[in-house]
Amino acid sequence: MPQISNRVLNLSPSATLAMSQKSADMRARGIDVINMSVGEPDFNTPDFIKEAAKRAIDENYSRYTPVPGYMSLRQAIAGKLKRENGLDYAPEQIVVGNGAKQELCNVLLAVINPGDEVIIPTPAWVSYIELVKLAEGVVVTVPSGVEEDFKITPEKLEAAITPRTRMIMLNTPSNPTGSVYSLEELTALAEVIKKHDNIMVMADDIYEHINFLGGKVASIAQVEGMADRTVIINGVSKAYAMTGWRIGFMAGPLAIAKAVTKLQGQMTSGASSIAQKAAEAAYDGPQQCVEDMRVAFERRRDLIVSLAREIPGWVVNCPEGAFYLFPQVEGCLGKKAGDKVINTSGEYVE
Ligand code: PLP
Repeated sequence: MPQISNRVLNLSPSATLAMSQKSADMRARGIDVINMSVGEPDFNTPDFIKEAAKRAIDENYSRYTPVPGYMSLRQAIAGKLKRENGLDYAPEQIVVGNGAKQELCNVLLAVINPGDEVIIPTPAWVSYIELVKLAEGVVVTVPSGVEEDFKITPEKLEAAITPRTRMIMLNTPSNPTGSVYSLEELTALAEVIKKHDNIMVMADDIYEHINFLGGKVASIAQVEGMADRTVIINGVSKAYAMTGWRIGFMAGPLAIAKAVTKLQGQMTSGASSIAQKAAEAAYDGPQQCVEDMRVAFERRRDLIVSLAREIPGWVVNCPEGAFYLFPQVEGCLGKKAGDKVINTSGEYVE
């Protein structure tokens, strides 16, 4: 057997991908399965974005790209952050990579030292915990339930902070709960964070456009005094149905952007030239496609919530964003599936 590093042995495989594989296996056996595991828009990438990519090929965007991304794309992202979020970032504070996921990982590797604590409100996206482990950080989870709309309070946050806390990872709208923090709620969390000089926030805003509030989702970077200690993570995957193009970014303090660029320069270099030109078109082009997809997601949210509320034993919140529903299934435990008693939520999912 070849040696596998402890670094990798300590990682858990993605539970989402395991469920997706199980659905695929069942389907291969001829069973009619609806796979509700992996989070991905089912729309095609809008035509004007695809055209920009085709043009990039014809115009020979075929060479290595700058490590942090084309200046024109970083300018387009700075424009988006100003226009949509009211935030001022210079292109030098922005690093583009292979999806939001790479930039999340890069920021953790660039900021976290072994033993540093990272607070993760749970339920959380499965990758957060594993990426913190990869960076040799210590995961501190702060759980909340459906009765709290899966949101943490300032009191819970305060109680989780220790002298070793370096970061809190905040995802709004959230995968997997669909919960959205209001600006007031973010401001209250920020008041706690601001009491501690060394704590920064990773604000994963990737689902900002998929919300059902009739307005914009707030980012904690908008709270006074927070921009300097926040790294925004975002990208084109969800808003523009571009999951396979692999373009995401981080925007934050210059020192962190420089550290991430140094790391990325050794690991992957700049992201795909063609995908970057497509992303630039997405940010600079007409935004109606984003709204059209959002409306479809809202219709589906309404349908799925009403159906889920009819399922005996389930308790669900009404997600205000993203495209997830996270049912509490406690009422189904102790029941039988065939001759097997279901004891845990994991067994219920199986
Ligand atoms: N952040 C969250 C909360 C996600 O759910 C996902 C994808 O599922 C990502 C980041 C990754 O996005 P990307 O496809 O840009 O890497």
